[in-house]
Amino acid sequence: MDLLKQRILNDGEALNENVLKVDSFLNHQIDPLLMKEVGQEFIHRFEDVEFNKVLTLESSGIAPSVMVGLLLDIPVVFGRKRQSLTLSDDLYTSQVFSYTKQETNTIAVAKKFLSKDDKVLIIDDFLANGEAAGALIDVVEQSGAEIVGVGIVIEKAFQSGGKILRDKGYRVESLARIESMYDKQVKFVGDN
Ligand code: 5GP
Repeated sequence: MDLLKQRILNDGEALNENVLKVDSFLNHQIDPLLMKEVGQEFIHRFEDVEFNKVLTLESSGIAPSVMVGLLLDIPVVFGRKRQSLTLSDDLYTSQVFSYTKQETNTIAVAKKFLSKDDKVLIIDDFLANGEAAGALIDVVEQSGAEIVGVGIVIEKAFQSGGKILRDKGYRVESLARIESMYDKQVKFVGDN
C-alpha cells in the first residue's frame, strides 16, 4: 500500500534496527483519512472471505479495525490488556509477551462477544514476533469461532511472527512489509 509506505518513510522513525515509531499517525496521534484507506485496503484484501466480526487488541489496533467495522457495518471487539487479571469464567484469556515493553500481559475478551458461530478477521497495528496475533488467535480458538485471516498494518518481516503464522496456515495480509531498518533507513520488502 503505497500511501502507507510513503507515510512511514516521511513520518516514521526507526529508533534502532528493530523498533519503528509511528506515533504521528497510528500509535498516538491518529490520521483518520489514512486509517480509512487502511480499512478499505483490508476489505479489498479479504474480499473473497466472509466475516462478521473484527478482533483486535487495545489500543493501537482499534483505529484501523474500527474503519473496517464501519465500512462493513460489523462489530469490532478488542482484547483488553491487564497486567494481572482475576480469572473469570466469563472471559477468554491468553498471555502476550511484549517485546517493546519487555513485559507479559494477560489479554481478555468477554465470552459474550465471541461465539462458535462467528467468522473473525484479526487485525493489529504491528506484527513482530507474533505474540499479540498468537494470543488473539488463541482466544478465537477457545471460543470455537473461525479465523478467516490476520490483517496487519505494518509487518516487520525480519522478525519471526509472519513466518510463524503463515507456517501454521493462517492467511496474513500485511499492508507494509519492512525488510530492514539498518542505519535507521526503512527498507520495504520488494524495494531495491
Ligand atoms: P509481536 O507481538 O508480534 O511481537 O508485536 C506486536 C505488538 O507489539 C504490536 O501490537 C505493537 O503494539 C507492538 N510492536 C512491536 N513492534 C513494534 C514496533 O516496531 N513499533 C511499534 N510502535 N510497536 C511495535
